[in-house]
Amino acid sequence: KSIQSPPRTWAEINLSALKQNLKLARERSGQRVMAVLKAGAYGHGLEQIAKALDSEGLPFFGVASVIEARRLAAIGIQTRIYLLGPTFPDERAEAVYHRWVISISTKEEADHVNTLNQGNDPLPVHITLDTGMGRGGFLPDQLTEGLAHIKSLPNLTVEGIGSHLPSADEDKTFTLAQFKTFESAFDPSEFQYIHIANSAGLLDYRSKITNMVRPGLMLYGISPLLEYQDELMPVMTLKSRVSLIRTLPKGHGISYGRETILERDTRVATIGAGYGDGYPRSLSSKGTEVIIRGKRCKLLGRVTMDQIMVDVTDLPDCETGDEVELFGPELLVSEIAQKAGTIAWEILTGITPRVTRIYL
Ligand code: PLP
Repeated sequence: KSIQSPPRTWAEINLSALKQNLKLARERSGQRVMAVLKAGAYGHGLEQIAKALDSEGLPFFGVASVIEARRLAAIGIQTRIYLLGPTFPDERAEAVYHRWVISISTKEEADHVNTLNQGNDPLPVHITLDTGMGRGGFLPDQLTEGLAHIKSLPNLTVEGIGSHLPSADEDKTFTLAQFKTFESAFDPSEFQYIHIANSAGLLDYRSKITNMVRPGLMLYGISPLLEYQDELMPVMTLKSRVSLIRTLPKGHGISYGRETILERDTRVATIGAGYGDGYPRSLSSKGTEVIIRGKRCKLLGRVTMDQIMVDVTDLPDCETGDEVELFGPELLVSEIAQKAGTIAWEILTGITPRVTRIYL
């Protein structure tokens, strides 16, 4: 008989929250939704999230690379796969073979894909337009010529056109101008799919010509813009457990570097999570809190690889084994990200493989 202990640190993934957030994305945009599942579905588990959404009738799952696409193909996902970034030349044969959607930024890419698809039905591709992201795509003044070239290639068919918003959550003036550039760059009747909005774009802007949106973060229940957060339900709750409680005397140091010296006799709870789980070390000494028994407790000293210490002096009933919420519905990952000097996207995608994902 084998004995298996429960995890120390785990991420509860609430699939009904995921579906509720998708419903909101659909209702809010009134458009079709490409679910962005790159980076392991933002750390939530690529295969599990894809399975949960495969029957939703979505036109595409957006992934970053052929490695992610391959993982979805391997489990028989039916939803079409869209490769969001540019493909490397040596990835294209596989993408063409599986008929994953490639986003085209240059005539050379188009020529190569056209050659690789010789002898098959024309391959549907999307055009990327660079309206300000600077990461890929035709510039607006290159589009007419580029498009004419791609349309002349016999083994490709242009199915869609997309662009990306670099500052939809930061710069309204620029983003509005970007929408304008996008909307005036081509004839919408030539494309089956027209898409530009990420989560912030979907929540905060309307376009007359787009018919698909590409939310990532909001599907996972986090809004890039705080004013919409209440409408969303965080999907991931990162949890851990109290492994030890001790009372340490005033003047005792806590953790590496002894940055924290206790100012009073303190009940210190040691918790089984650290930066080895993706709980950032940069949260040290930032007034970071965790939730135990519904109460916020302060982090003491530096985050270590596998453990953190928190002050539970004011939580006398706290005991070994107590569950700890590191982030989730009660303590948003956005708050943690801000304290760590980063963004929610980075924290979610940085939760490491040793953290057990539990699907609810
Ligand atoms: N579209 C593209 C091309 C992206 O790179 C991303 C993610 O960065 C998204 C959509 C989804 O963005 P968000 O998570 O902000 O909704």
